[in-house]
Amino acid sequence: MKLNSIFQSIQGEGRFQGYPSDFIRFFGCNLNCSYCDTKYTLSGDSFYFMTPEEAAEKLNKSDVPDLCITGGEPMCQENELLKFLILLSGKRISLETNGSFELEPLYRAFSAAKKDSELFFSTDWKTPASGNPVFDERNINFLKKSGAGWIKFVVKTEKDLDFVEEKLKFLDGIETYLSPVFEQGKDWFSAVEKFVKSHKNIRLQLQLHKILGIE
Ligand code: SF4
Repeated sequence: MKLNSIFQSIQGEGRFQGYPSDFIRFFGCNLNCSYCDTKYTLSGDSFYFMTPEEAAEKLNKSDVPDLCITGGEPMCQENELLKFLILLSGKRISLETNGSFELEPLYRAFSAAKKDSELFFSTDWKTPASGNPVFDERNINFLKKSGAGWIKFVVKTEKDLDFVEEKLKFLDGIETYLSPVFEQGKDWFSAVEKFVKSHKNIRLQLQLHKILGIE
């Protein structure tokens, strides 16, 4: 697997926000978002290789049960990612993905292996301000019927909020988060707060790792 880093920190977002967590950051992504805060995983030479066996052995030694798989976009290395997932033991796994890949085949293959880890997809739905609002809509039904994850909109502009308003009509039954681009500051947080107050099926979430200034 082509990786950028393995480290420990606090989970900054999603259902397991605030828990201590191990992280494995994959290198490479199929998108190039305007507000990407991990540009160093998109190109350049900040990567190294580990086999799925080597990475799983390292992370299985950790006594931290939460593991966040992030990037970059881990689904770009789907075959090796699956091998890695199946080798993990006793983990509550959050797989952070940009939502542009169909997730169900990976989940089915993981579930068929009957391991003692749980897998959840922290699924972005990229908004217009990202520059590439692509999403595989098969993931909506998959998340509804499996409950294996949530959807997160990172929003930067009023146009993004209009976009979310439109998509929310289809997301009843899916845990959904709204996360303002942190660098936009407090006025923008207030606008997002107002949006959340007027909708019943979405939760405001600030990126804890940015507030704390940690990785
Ligand atoms: S999908 Fe994520 S890692 Fe890829 S460019 Fe967008 S923000 Fe960066």
